[in-house]
Amino acid sequence: MSPSPRPQRGALRGQAKRRLLLIGLLVTLLIFAVTSLSYRVLKQRDLEQRREQVRAHYNQLLPRLGSQQLAQGLQLAARIEFSRILERPSAERWPMLTAFLNAQWSFSTFSNLVVLDPAGKPIYRHGAESDSLLLQASQAPHWLYEPQYHQLYRIYRIPLWLGSEGQGQLVLFKTLSHSSLSEWAIPQTQLELTHEGRLVARSSAEPVNALDDPARYLRLEIPWPRDEAAEGQTYPVLLAYRDLGDLLPHGQFVARPVALALLILGLLWYGLGRWLGGTVRRIESLGQGARRYARQHDRNQLLPALAPALERDDEIKDTALAFEHLVAAIEEREQEQLSYLQTLELLEEAVIEFNAEGRILRASPAWSALCHQEDGQCDCIHSQIHPDDLPLLKAQAEQLFQGQKQGVTLRLRLHAKGRGRAGHDLWIEARLLAFADRHGRVENVRGVLRDITQTYTHEQQISHMALHDALTELPNRVLLEDRFKIALRLAARNEEMVGVCFIDLDHFKLVNDSLGHKAGDRLLLSFADRLQQSLRKGDTLARWGGDEFVLLLPEMQDENDIRTVAGKVISALQQPLEVMDNEIRMTLSMGVAVYPNDSEEMETLFSQADRAMFFAKAQGRNQLCFFHDMSSKGPGKQELYIQNRLAAAVEQGLIQAWFQPVVDSRSHACTSLEVLARWQDAENGWISPATFIPMAENLGLIGALGNKILLDSLDALCRLNQLGYDLWVAVNISKRQLFIPGFVEWLLQELAERGLRPGQLILEITESVALSDVESGADTVQRLRGAGFHLAIDDFGTGYSSLSQLHEMQANELKIDISFIRRLFQPDGKTMVQAIIRMAQALEMKTVAEGVETSECAELLAQMGADCLQGYLFGKPMPLAEFELWLERNRQEPRIATS
Ligand code: C2E
Ligand code: CA
Ligand code: CA
Repeated sequence: MSPSPRPQRGALRGQAKRRLLLIGLLVTLLIFAVTSLSYRVLKQRDLEQRREQVRAHYNQLLPRLGSQQLAQGLQLAARIEFSRILERPSAERWPMLTAFLNAQWSFSTFSNLVVLDPAGKPIYRHGAESDSLLLQASQAPHWLYEPQYHQLYRIYRIPLWLGSEGQGQLVLFKTLSHSSLSEWAIPQTQLELTHEGRLVARSSAEPVNALDDPARYLRLEIPWPRDEAAEGQTYPVLLAYRDLGDLLPHGQFVARPVALALLILGLLWYGLGRWLGGTVRRIESLGQGARRYARQHDRNQLLPALAPALERDDEIKDTALAFEHLVAAIEEREQEQLSYLQTLELLEEAVIEFNAEGRILRASPAWSALCHQEDGQCDCIHSQIHPDDLPLLKAQAEQLFQGQKQGVTLRLRLHAKGRGRAGHDLWIEARLLAFADRHGRVENVRGVLRDITQTYTHEQQISHMALHDALTELPNRVLLEDRFKIALRLAARNEEMVGVCFIDLDHFKLVNDSLGHKAGDRLLLSFADRLQQSLRKGDTLARWGGDEFVLLLPEMQDENDIRTVAGKVISALQQPLEVMDNEIRMTLSMGVAVYPNDSEEMETLFSQADRAMFFAKAQGRNQLCFFHDMSSKGPGKQELYIQNRLAAAVEQGLIQAWFQPVVDSRSHACTSLEVLARWQDAENGWISPATFIPMAENLGLIGALGNKILLDSLDALCRLNQLGYDLWVAVNISKRQLFIPGFVEWLLQELAERGLRPGQLILEITESVALSDVESGADTVQRLRGAGFHLAIDDFGTGYSSLSQLHEMQANELKIDISFIRRLFQPDGKTMVQAIIRMAQALEMKTVAEGVETSECAELLAQMGADCLQGYLFGKPMPLAEFELWLERNRQEPRIATS
């Protein structure tokens, strides 16, 4: 993931500041606009109010003034009439009136006064300007402007009783001067009076228009109230100038709120800015911490980086703490993952994960090591697998991807191509597991791969040895039976014939006796060699034992083909065999049985061929006999005889239990004993259990025989316990015996009756039986194990068990087959035995080596780690009484092993 572009340092803070500034400016502007607007509205209203006030005042004042002066005039007229001065004679009356008026004048507000006779002729004047005024008053009934005196007069005409002359008129002139205007002026107002456009009086010293700032005044024109009678007269106009100096100027009105806003903004800028700055710094520390952690991946560096964020208890601190917890969790997870990875690196097993195309998605280092390639070079599993094994892998993986299986275990080869170590394919065991995702789909498969080349080759070698005769390297009985079964199946399908020929060298015993065992072995070898040269590829020549061989001829079209091959074998012996510089002429007797003519069963065909061979020998040797050519077709005479005798011997208890010691490989002290069946027939002498045990199994006598041997063994165990020996007793258990119903219960019962424990018995079961029990799911072996019996796998190496199967059986002991011990002093033999011992140790099983005949062999086995040894070197099988003596000697001097 590419890192996201680093945010610019302090961007958040700058952004916040710019926003704040912008908002502040906007608010200020808004305040400015609002106050300006309200100023206009308020001012308008204020002006209107003042205008109304002033107008109302003067509209009231002026009529009142008029009526006041009129009343004064009437009063004056009344007083004059009351004084009766005018009723006096002419000469007397005017001086008296002048004296009266002078006495009254001080009260009078009128500057001039004229008295008119009923004809309207002036008969009396009072006041300096009365003469000129009277002249003009005839044109102006109410108002008079006197240019000479630059005065405006208000004229009042009042009727006056002149006595004998009748009704005259009193004309009164009232001057409207500067002083009257000053009187009328109300505060913050100046008045001017104009008449016909002329300024006639003013309340102030200077005319308002001449003042420095006429805009300071609100100008009102108040016309003088009109009298109805005085139509056509010019009236003066009163100009009122209302001083607006007390009105708050616009600048001041707006400046205050704006200043206040700016102040608040400043305070906010300072206070909020500081807080915002701190907060941004703390938020930035989160980002810084994250970036630093991403860069250095160091948790110790993280805490100092987050310190500012942790300063205060708030959401930022919570976030920082959550972040820190997250990092802690990540680190813990990483640590965990690391340790898993380290563990994976330690493992020899490779762990890989691949998809349906085989592409490897993840692999532990061991995978590269397995492939011998650099990391990342082996990224498709298919290219690494041997072409022959690839289909198997693909088929199994397919099942996993389809969800048909959860897991599979398979063995595969890694392709040698391109690997440093030239030419060797590596065998691996792969355990593949399917992991479904949440939707149940299997996208990937995980596998644990283990190099098992060594184990595999060992197993291969072991099974080769187990399946081949030590001397001639020919297939042994086990392999022969295997191939026979396959041949029979094929023949049944293809409608072909199979020939089985038993071959016995005539008078081989003579060679052995006269030239020695070594020469005998050589003879067998060159015989096997010669025979094989005359055979086809598909034929099998096996060694049956001693000087007996079996020839298996599959895919035969008819009996003549078989006769031809048999004839070739016989003629191959026309030439003498070379044995240690001697030329020896040998002949053979051969018995042949044919599938499907003689039988369809393998066992029957074997015994038919065997009997035909007996027959050929009885006919004087050096001849070939087909089973169906035999004159009498029952079992061989001797065989039949033994069979008859066996039933009687079992019935009469003639078959005895003999005992062979098993000793500790180091101290040679006896640890256990193996019970072996022995039968001495009055006529035939000792008969080998290898002969009569299979016979007893076939005849259904094994139950009785086996039980007798087991009971003898238990009695012997009691006896040895009484003598103070603490030994295990090992008893051979045949396959048929295991499947007798109630066997386990019967055995436990017998033990209990004698006061013995199952743990004192070792039950020896051959490898193939133990294996078939596991495979067939039968649980007899497991039940025996569960009951507490010790289990030993007998003749180990002759079966096909793999390690994992051995593990499942949970046996306590492993008896290495005698054929391996025979080859101990051959290089590969030693390797094999060593491999078996190691395997057993790995599975925590005790090893017992059978057939130890020499002290060199015993020493070598002890060195190699075998736990116990059994063989003629320490003691042959012997009857109980003799065995007791042997035990006594062994107790005193374990190292001297004699019998
Ligand atoms: P096995 O269980 O492998 O027994 C060991 C055989 O090796 C015995 O042969 C024993 O005598 C022989 N042996 C022991 N040490 C040496 C030695 O140093 N050199 C040589 N050459 N051979 C040695 P044996 O007694 O002939 O028994 C043959 C097989 O018969 C036994 O093989 C076992 O499979 C079977 N068998 C014997 N007794 C019984 C029995 O009571 N019940 C059953 N079911 N099978 C028995
Ligand atoms: Ca045995
Ligand atoms: Ca054995």
